[in-house]
Formats: sequence, structure tokens, C-alpha cells
Amino acid sequence: MSLTPLELERYDRQIRLFGIEGQVRLKKSKVLIAGIGGLGCPAALYLVAAGIGEVIIVDSETVELSNLNRQILHWTSDIGRPKVDSAVEKLRILNPDVRIVGIKRVIDEELLESLVPNVDIVIDGLDSWKIRFILNRICVRYKKPLIHAGIHGMYGQLLVVIPGITPCLQCIIPREPPEIKPFPVLGATPGILAMMQVVEAIKLITKIGEPAINKIIVYDGYTMTFREVPVNRNPNCPVCSLKQ
Ligand SMILES: [Zn+2]
Repeated sequence: MSLTPLELERYDRQIRLFGIEGQVRLKKSKVLIAGIGGLGCPAALYLVAAGIGEVIIVDSETVELSNLNRQILHWTSDIGRPKVDSAVEKLRILNPDVRIVGIKRVIDEELLESLVPNVDIVIDGLDSWKIRFILNRICVRYKKPLIHAGIHGMYGQLLVVIPGITPCLQCIIPREPPEIKPFPVLGATPGILAMMQVVEAIKLITKIGEPAINKIIVYDGYTMTFREVPVNRNPNCPVCSLKQ
């Protein structure tokens, strides 16, 4: 696989970072974004701008007015439209070189079972712990890196799961936290966490830098601080334990 003259120009500033080889790796890669809301929208924009070969987005919801403070691919004129349609339309305009697949379906085990094995990396853009736990389990089963982020108000957290190497989500959060809906969110909070997810995804694909593994990174917007909490695999984890 090679790059066209237009691709060389579009990605010039990042090719200076990781070379043509890195850009070709991005072009060959497939990323699944589960949920196209506060995290998924900015993550999709930057992944598509960076020239990922194929980006698959999944969501079943329609755009509501109260989404617009943070779900930046959806605009006022999109209210009532499926989020997937609204997102795919803009992402294709941003970068026609990327294959963008929109799937308008409820995210459940069956759907994830059919999608996760065929992608290289999964971005968690979910707002439900129940589905997140299923996604974590399926990523571990198929050994696909999962880049988890969660947010609340002015706080966020990032965890990079590399199955077989790092703790999985359930090693660290053994039981589903309670679902609180709707919860407060400053729009920029998922923006910050989504950018961290994108940086980690691009690092894993291009093999530059060191992945942010074996730690949770906790963001506090009130004090503008990032804290790192080391994490270990749980030998009794029901999802990734070696004892099974
Ligand atoms: Zn685990």
C-alpha cells in the first residue's frame, strides 16, 4: 500500500513525525468507535483527519438539543436525525479518503461480536457501564486494544487495555457502577478525554512513543491536573484471569 500525492500533502505535518511508514500503518488500520456522542464525536473527527483507513461508528440514538454542548459533529439542523447519519455526512466531507461506515443499531453483545474481531482498535465512546463491560469482555476475547474513557462533569479518566498484557476494565472496576442519567458534563471534558484516546490509538497503530498502560489517568478540570494511578491485573478477574 502506498500514499497518493494528495495524501502526502494532506498528512505532511504528521508524516514529519512518524514517516510515510507510520502514515501507511494508519491507512491500513480499522478503528471501531462505539457511540458517537460526547467522546465519539471529537475522537471520530481527529481519527478521520489523521487518515485512519476505515472508521466504523455505531450508535442507535437521534440528535437532541441537549446533546449539542458536547457532541460536536451534530449541529442544530441535525436535531431529530440519527446521530450516525449526522456524523457520517460531516466526516466524509472532512476526509473523503477514509472509508467511513455508519451502523445505526443498538450496541449489544451480538453486534459487538460481529464488529470487534474485524478491527484493530476499539474506542469506548459509551455512556453505559453495562455495555462497556460487554465491550471490555469482547475486546479481551478477541485480543483487541480497547481505549476506555469515562467522564462526569469536570472529571475524566483514561485507561488503555491491551488484552493479555494490561489489566482490563473489569480488573479495575469489578462491579458495574450505578448508571446516573442525565449527568452533568462540561462539553470540553469529553473533548479532552477523546483527544487522549486518539493520541493513544495513533501511537498504538504507528508504534511511536509508549502506550499509557498499567495506569489510569484521572483528569480534574477544576484544578487542571492529571493524576496517574498505577493499576494491576486482578488474578481473579472474571474477564481476563489466566486461571480460567
Ligand atoms: Zn481483567
